[in-house]
Amino acid sequence: PGTERPQGRVVDDEEGGVLFLSGAHHSSSSSGYGYASIEKQRQRLPVYKYRTAILYLIETHATTIIVGETGSGKTTQIPQYLKEAGWATGGRLIACTQPRRLAVQAVAARVAEEMGVKLGDEVGYTIRFEDITKPDVTVLKFLTDGVLLREMMNDPLLTKYSVIMVDEAHERSISTDILLGLLKKIQRRRPELRLIISSATIEAKSMSDFFRTRKKRREPENEEHGLQLEPALLSVEGRGFNVQINYAEEPIQDYVQAAVSTVLLIHEREPTGDVLVFLTGQDDIDAAVQLLTDEVQTNGKRSSGLIVLPLYSGLPRAEQELVFSPTLRGKRKVVISTNIAETSLTLEGIVYVVDSGFSKQRFYNPISDIENLVVAPISRASARQRAGRAGRVRPGVCYRLYTEDYFLNHMLNEGIPEIQRSNLVSCVIQLKALGIDNILGFDWPASPSPEAMIRALEVLYSLGVLDDDAKLTSPTGFQVAEIPLDPMVSKMIIASSQLGCSEEIITIAAVLSVQSIWISGRGIQKDSDEAKLRFAAAEGDHVTFLNIYKGFLQSGKSSQWCHKNYVNYHAMRKVLEVREQLKRIVQRIGLILKSCESDMQVVRKAVTAGFFANACYLEAYSHNGMYKTLRGSQEVYIHPSSVLFRVNPKWVIYNSLVSTDRQYMRNVITIDPSWLLEAAPHFYQLQQHKPLT
Ligand code: ADP
Ligand code: MG
Repeated sequence: PGTERPQGRVVDDEEGGVLFLSGAHHSSSSSGYGYASIEKQRQRLPVYKYRTAILYLIETHATTIIVGETGSGKTTQIPQYLKEAGWATGGRLIACTQPRRLAVQAVAARVAEEMGVKLGDEVGYTIRFEDITKPDVTVLKFLTDGVLLREMMNDPLLTKYSVIMVDEAHERSISTDILLGLLKKIQRRRPELRLIISSATIEAKSMSDFFRTRKKRREPENEEHGLQLEPALLSVEGRGFNVQINYAEEPIQDYVQAAVSTVLLIHEREPTGDVLVFLTGQDDIDAAVQLLTDEVQTNGKRSSGLIVLPLYSGLPRAEQELVFSPTLRGKRKVVISTNIAETSLTLEGIVYVVDSGFSKQRFYNPISDIENLVVAPISRASARQRAGRAGRVRPGVCYRLYTEDYFLNHMLNEGIPEIQRSNLVSCVIQLKALGIDNILGFDWPASPSPEAMIRALEVLYSLGVLDDDAKLTSPTGFQVAEIPLDPMVSKMIIASSQLGCSEEIITIAAVLSVQSIWISGRGIQKDSDEAKLRFAAAEGDHVTFLNIYKGFLQSGKSSQWCHKNYVNYHAMRKVLEVREQLKRIVQRIGLILKSCESDMQVVRKAVTAGFFANACYLEAYSHNGMYKTLRGSQEVYIHPSSVLFRVNPKWVIYNSLVSTDRQYMRNVITIDPSWLLEAAPHFYQLQQHKPLT
């Protein structure tokens, strides 16, 4: 295994070992790619040949669907073509949305570089809590689909945009789906608005059906002002190379370890070429980076020339950029990534892909009302995309850390749209804020389940966000909708204004909005646990965060202080930034900023006001720390990263659940159960459950 196969061989991956990506050879030789001028590089991309066709279709069609292999230039080129063709004149903007924040930043930076402008001037981006655009200057704007949804609250018809490109539509993120439904509505009111739906897979067919099913109205010839209302569909022929697929012979238990061994094996035996490893999240990526780095240190010979880099959202900008920088001669870059590198970002020079077969996915069970993040098998469509990343510059090899039988008989053909496996609380409130009342009757690309919808309405009613007629309450409902956070967090903030502890609560909200403020990794667990104890509060993690924040400020925001205490400095900088933004939002919507000094009871009450639905009690006879959720009687445990791990107080509220061998509560705080009835009488009153004592 591992030898390069002749190019152009067509073998279906379901039968043979070769994944056929597409026909012709790459027009340029792989060497020298890095030296070509930017203009030359742009012209070499597959979309370049379609430039005229794309612009013509957009001119003449309300909606254009563009399918093209990852790396063909959809994201970076099409917005530039639009600008060159005059779509950004007269104060109009071109928007390009992405499901992921990191992709927004990376792509905007690349486009600014290609255009030779400063990021934030003509080319800018907006993600939650970070707006790098200039009014009247920015004409190409990259943003998350979630941010574009938020913009609709102030400008329901998105009037400042001439063209909106909804990119990565195949990902079917919850915000993409809501956005598509709303854009379809907007188009009826703004026929001049052009939509581009771009996607890496042929699944675009269902998108095209979605945009085709317009209500038949007085539309003779299905045309309006010479504009075709039927969507146009264009497929950009990619130029990927063949990728040879190697499967594991036996099922693999520890995919982190297996990935590390595979990388070392590739490095030992295979010719030059960078490696891309797909793992699931920051924790396993950090672990793999650590293992490989240790290997480089202890066994230099075997691993000399290896450059190991992580790639996940939340990574500081400087580290992100390393991933895109060309690999030096004689070196081999190993990028260990979440599924962000599956289709959202293109890395040049990848020849080997190691696919764990897993990704972190959200799952929601409306019966137990529990949503958690689970490491779950990917779909066959994702596996093919991952493999495809190896064939960009020359024929490549993909090592699948699962068996062929598993691929063929156990993986789903395609992923399930996120809207069908998520808690819908945020989704419902956003639609309500946009005046969409009949949510079940909304024109969804994929319908959410009625059970999940009813659960969401119930929670929002209990939060005091919706009234008896399922309309947003004033002011609470509108305030919650204004804060760009999970409605439970927003409600916690609003309650804190009444309880006089908003200064503390916005700190907590800011900390909860970053991945983790701790430094983790294999080998440092004991030291970091000890460091954590220095700040640990008996009340739980939320209060512990306040102690850390205080310590960080007292240290003069020092990076050494963070290092010494196993606190992630970059995460803390982010917390400061988010906190500033939240402060502004809170003041704008008329809440009172006030500190409760050392009264932690009000802080816990504020948390309860938002997160009452996540209340749990310790099973009386449990000796292993088993809790039950008050609502659904689900078995849950305190996560080992919590300061309350092994402390096991009787009543707690958690912020989120993660599921591995068990369901673990992350970020836990102690409460007095009587506060639950106070916070949400409707939610708990009529339920049959353990007495609240
Ligand atoms: P698509 O959206 O079709 O997947 P992109 O427009 O993202 O393709 O990428 C097109 C090409 O632009 C890539 O193949 C790569 O050569 C180059 N490119 C994109 N982003 C970067 C980056 N951040 N750094 C360097 N090159 C990049
Ligand atoms: Mg793209």
